Amino acid sequence: MEKINDLSTPCFILDPKELERSVRGFQEALNSKFGNSIVGYSVKTNSVPFCLKCAGKLGAYAEVVSSDEYELALACGFSKGNIIYNGPLKSKETFIDAILHGAIVNIETKRELSWLKELPHDKKYNVGLRVNINISHVSPEDADGENDNSRFGFSDETEELKDALSFIKQIDNVELAGLHIHRTTHSRSVRFYKKSIEYACQTIKKYGLSINYLDVGGGFFGIFPNKPTYQQYSDAFYEVLSKFEMQNLCVIVEPGNALVASCFSFISEVIDVKHVEKELWFITTNGSRNDIDPFFKKSTYLCETVDYNKNRDIAKEQIVSGCTCLEYDRMHTLKDKPLLSVGDRIVYNNVGAYTMCLSPMFIRYIPNIYVKNEDSFELIREKWTAQEHIVKNKFK
Ligand SMILES: *Cc1c(COP(=O)(O)O)cnc(C)c1O
Repeated sequence: MEKINDLSTPCFILDPKELERSVRGFQEALNSKFGNSIVGYSVKTNSVPFCLKCAGKLGAYAEVVSSDEYELALACGFSKGNIIYNGPLKSKETFIDAILHGAIVNIETKRELSWLKELPHDKKYNVGLRVNINISHVSPEDADGENDNSRFGFSDETEELKDALSFIKQIDNVELAGLHIHRTTHSRSVRFYKKSIEYACQTIKKYGLSINYLDVGGGFFGIFPNKPTYQQYSDAFYEVLSKFEMQNLCVIVEPGNALVASCFSFISEVIDVKHVEKELWFITTNGSRNDIDPFFKKSTYLCETVDYNKNRDIAKEQIVSGCTCLEYDRMHTLKDKPLLSVGDRIVYNNVGAYTMCLSPMFIRYIPNIYVKNEDSFELIREKWTAQEHIVKNKFK
C-alpha cells in the first residue's frame, strides 16, 4: 500500500467510496418515500472534474449556477437533460439551449423571463421559478440575523412572484413545471425544510399551480453524528407534501456540503519550527488557510498528525500556520502537545466543500489531487505551475 507519507505535499485526497456513499445515501432516502426524485450535485461546492464524473455515473444531476458551470458539466459528461440550471449568471445562449434540451431550468431574474419570448413555437417548454424565501418569516426558530432575507427568487411579499407567474402564463409555448426554494440555514434543521416546503405548498395552492417538481435546494448536513440524516430530511419532505396531497411531485435536492465535504482530505507538511517566546512555537507548514478555510471562518479542524512519534518534548503552545506571507494565515493551536518537527504531515479531514473551488492563485498555485484506490493513490490533478498560470495571457 502506497502510504500517505509518499505523496508529494501539499495535496488533496479524494475518497470516491465516500462520495458514492453520500450520493447513494441521499438517493435511497428519497426513493424510500417518493416515486420520483432527483439528487443534484452542487457544482459550485466542488467542481473537480473527477468528482463531477463520479457523481454523474451514480445518477446524480449536475446543479449549475453559471454558464461556465453549464459548459463544465457538459464537458464532464452530463447530458443536458441531467442538468439543473439555477442562479442569476445564466447566459441567454445557455439558458435557451438548456430549456430546448430538457434541462431543469429555474428562473432567477427578470431578464430570463424576457428571454422566454425567444423560444421556438414548435412545442411547449418547461421552466421552473425560484421563490424568494425569508428565513425568519418562513421559520422564525431558524432566524439568524441580517441575511435572513434573500437576494434570490421572486417574492410573494411584493408583486414580483404574482407578476412572474402571470408573465409565464401568458406565454403559450411555456409551462411552469416547478418551484425552487433553496436556502441554507445556519441550523441546517429538519424543521426549516418542513416550514419552507409548507410555504411552497401554500404558494402552489394560492395560485392554483399545476407543477411537476419541487426543488427544495441544498443546505443539508452530511456525516455528523447527532445531526439529521438524509432519511430524516426525506421523511420530513414527505410528511409535509402528503399533508397537502402533493407527495406525487418529483422532489429535487441540491446538496453541496452534504455530498462533498467528507470525501476530501488535505495533507500538509511541516517545513519549519520557530521558537519565538519561552512557551510559544510557530509551526510553518506548506498548506495554507486558503486551501482549507478560504472564508477564514473555521475555528476548529478535524485534523491529525501522521505517524507521529510521541516521544518528544511537550510544547505549551504551538500555532500551526500556513505557507503564505500573511501574518493571519494561522490554522490552529496545539496546547501541551508533543512538539512537531520538520517533515511531520498533518491530515485535515472533511475539507471537500467550498475549499478548492475558492482557493486563490496566491503565492503557490493549486495543489495536486490524488484519488484513493484500493491499495494506491492516483494523481488526478497535477499541481499548477507558472506555466498554467500564464496560459491565455498575452505579454511581451
Ligand atoms: C450553493 C447552493 C447549493 C448547495 O448548498 P449547500 O449548503 O452546500 O448544500 C444548492 N443550491 C443552490 C441554488 C445553491 O446556490
